[in-house]
Formats: sequence, C-alpha cells, structure tokens
Amino acid sequence: MVHTDRSQEKLLDKDDKYVWHAMRPYSPDATIVVEKAEGSWVTDVDGKRYLDAMSGLWCVNIGYGRTELADAAYEQLKELAYFPLSQSHVPAIKLAEKLNEMLGDEYVIFFSNSGSEANETAFKIVRQYHQQKGEHNRYKIVSRYRGYHGNTIGTLAATGQAQRKYKYEPLAPGFIHVSPPDSYRDDTNVTDPMKLSSVQEIDKTMTWELSETIAAMIMEPIITGGGVLVPPDGYMKAAHEVCKKHGALLIVDEVICGFGRTGKPFGFMNYGVKPDIITMAKGITSAYLPLSATAVRKDIYEAFKGTEEYDYFRHVNTFGGNPAACALALKNLEILEKEKLFDRSRDLGEQLLNDLNGLLKDHPYVGNVRGKGLLVGIELVKDKSTKEPLDVSLVNQVIAGCKEKGIIIGKNGATVAGYNNVLTMAPPLSIEQKDLNFLVKTLGEALDKIK
Ligand code: PMP
Repeated sequence: MVHTDRSQEKLLDKDDKYVWHAMRPYSPDATIVVEKAEGSWVTDVDGKRYLDAMSGLWCVNIGYGRTELADAAYEQLKELAYFPLSQSHVPAIKLAEKLNEMLGDEYVIFFSNSGSEANETAFKIVRQYHQQKGEHNRYKIVSRYRGYHGNTIGTLAATGQAQRKYKYEPLAPGFIHVSPPDSYRDDTNVTDPMKLSSVQEIDKTMTWELSETIAAMIMEPIITGGGVLVPPDGYMKAAHEVCKKHGALLIVDEVICGFGRTGKPFGFMNYGVKPDIITMAKGITSAYLPLSATAVRKDIYEAFKGTEEYDYFRHVNTFGGNPAACALALKNLEILEKEKLFDRSRDLGEQLLNDLNGLLKDHPYVGNVRGKGLLVGIELVKDKSTKEPLDVSLVNQVIAGCKEKGIIIGKNGATVAGYNNVLTMAPPLSIEQKDLNFLVKTLGEALDKIK
C-alpha cells in the first residue's frame, strides 16, 4: 500500500470519524475510497482499479468519465443555473418532451431529485386524483414484498423488506403488501398468468380490502434490490388487468429498470403494459447529477385542472428539475440512443446469462441464475433441493473474493427477511465484452473457493 496523504488508510480513519454511510458494508474493511473513474472502471486513492459491475448503485448506465455530460451541465450552469418549476425553463421543457417521445407521447412529467421523491410524488398524485374524481375512500396503495421503493416514511411503507423498516416504524398508514412472483421458488408449472398465485393474491387482497378503497398498485417491472426477481412474461399484464378490475391505478417504478437496464428503454416495455404512472431516477442522468421524474398519464393530470381552491397539485420541490440536471439528462439520453446502448444491454445481457449458466450450472450452491439485459442475479442456496438460502458469511466471501481480484459486485435478496443470498450485477451498459469475460471468470473462481 502506498502511504501518502491520500492513502486509503489515512482517509478511512477520517471517513470513520466524519462520514455516516448509507449501508453497512459486508465487512469492516470493505469500504474503498474512490478517486476517479473511466468507462466501467473505478480507481481508489491507492491506484487500485476495480471493474464496477454494479454501476455504483445500479445507476451509471452510460459508464463513467463522459465529458460530454460534464460539458452539458457546465454550459447550462453558465446560462441559467436555477429557476423553480413553479414557473418553467427550457431544459425542463425539452427533457419532458424527450421523455414523452420515449414513452409514447401520453404523459406529463413532474420532476424531483431522487427515486424516493418520484415515488412519494406518485403516491400523493394517485390519492388526490381519486379525491377529485369523487372517490373519497380510495387511498390504499398495494405493493409487493421484496420490492424497494425508497427511504422516506411513505416509500419505506411501500417497500416490502421488513429488515429495512425495523426500528423506523410506525411508517405511513395505508400501504398493503402482496407476494411477488418468484419463478424459481413458486408456480414453476403455471402457464396461464391469471392463475399465478401472485396474481390471484392481488385480486383477493383488493377484494378483501374493498376495491373502492384501493388507490393504486406500485411495482418494479423486475424486483431489483429484493433479489432480481424476473417475473413470468404474462405477470405484469395480468396484474394490470386485476388493478383495472378494482379501479386501481398502476404505478411502475422504473428507478432501476429504466433507461436500458433491462434491454429496453423502460422495463415495462418488455411486458406489453401501459402504466398509468411511471417513476424514474438513477439512469435518467446516469447518476452524474441528481434528477428524477414522475410521468403521469395526461387524463390523470387533467383532473388537477379544476377551479376549486385545492384542486391543483400542492407539491413543491425546490431543486426538482434543476436546469443543469435536465440539460445533462438530455445529453445522457442522446448518447444512450446514439450508441444503441439499450440494444447493447439486451444482447450483452443474453450472452452474460448464457455464459454464467454454462459455467455455474453444476456448482453445488448456485440455485438459479436469472436476469434481463444487464441486470443479473445469482441465487445461492445451501442445497438445491430444499432451496434454503446460503449463509450470508459464504455470500460475503464470494463478494470479497471478487473485490480482491478487482471486481465490485453486489448482494441482495430478502428471500427470508434479512437474508441476502442473491449476488447482483448491473454493469454500465457500455461495458466491453472483455470486461464481461473477466467478470464471469473471476466470479467462477470466487465461487469455486467456497465449494
Ligand atoms: N425505487 C427503486 C426500485 C430503487 O431501487 C430505489 C433506490 N435504490 C428507489 C426507488 C429510491 O431511489 P433513491 O435512492 O434515489 O431515493
């Protein structure tokens, strides 16, 4: 290790003293202090390079070091650094138009700064919408166990991971959970999506709760942080049918799945549904600046144009839709399209799944390899017949083995509350094939060490 003022060791002492981290690392020496990054690679202050197979927190879709994005923000900051969206400005209008071009020109966009805010905004919109339509009892929001929707009191209430809520309760009332589809563990032989236990559970829950009290259902197209749960193809459409039957709106959380992560511009586009509301963040700017959006079907927006005192959407967001963030997002979308990164994600993702399946199919602890686009989960189990989750200490050993060789991967899961037995990968969509080969080889070696 190089001992200079910038060395990891010294900085980590200060880090420990001054910085409160978002999550507990899997081991005390897991934290790295990163100084710079290029493409799919980050470099720590001691000069060690890591392939970032998680794109930060599933968000640097375009890869690191794209100076075009920095330039777009810089130019915009010089021209107009800020103006509130209680009025308007050019980059916000252009970005809203661009998002509509991607979504099919049927939405009005409300800008915020984070995924949590985008979802919180959606919850307030659906509640007020039903009120204005005279349906005063529709306030409940249905979401799925294992899904994650944010860190605020409302979005955490919608989140279906008990371990994230513990000690923060009571959270916001009016949130109800149902089971997600888990193709590895449940309904493995069901072909009619309406007969999936997870779809029937939505129907039963909305019936038993009284249809006329349900405002909306929120779901990610693919549950990401809960263990990369890829649904059966017909699930989302069937779930939407059930929502319509009960008069509930469908909010699709595209915070991770959006902007090419699953091989399409938006994750729901894999499944043939047209959501009422779409929330997005992370990949909208490839995380170069904070920005999020809540896209709302135009006819829902129209309901907020009444003339009564409280008809308009009384939801202020000071920083939401910052001009530099919008200008940068536009450049990000331009590059994603110009470099065909959505298709690249689809094609490289298919190849990656094939390679991983081929390499790992006989590994005693690899229960299931799944994904779509450049979003992959590997579920580790103690025993392939019982599917009991593998001990977290062994999962951590695999992550540490990858880190030692210079690769950052993640873990998630919540198969059993608190169990993170799914290794996760979501590399930049611009990742090179040789780096994916390095990932597969290194992961295979790290898994072999725990056999
Ligand atoms: N929804 C999903 C699906 C997410 O993965 C996240 C964050 N990981 C959020 C919402 C919340 O986003 P943020 O952390 O930007 O508030």
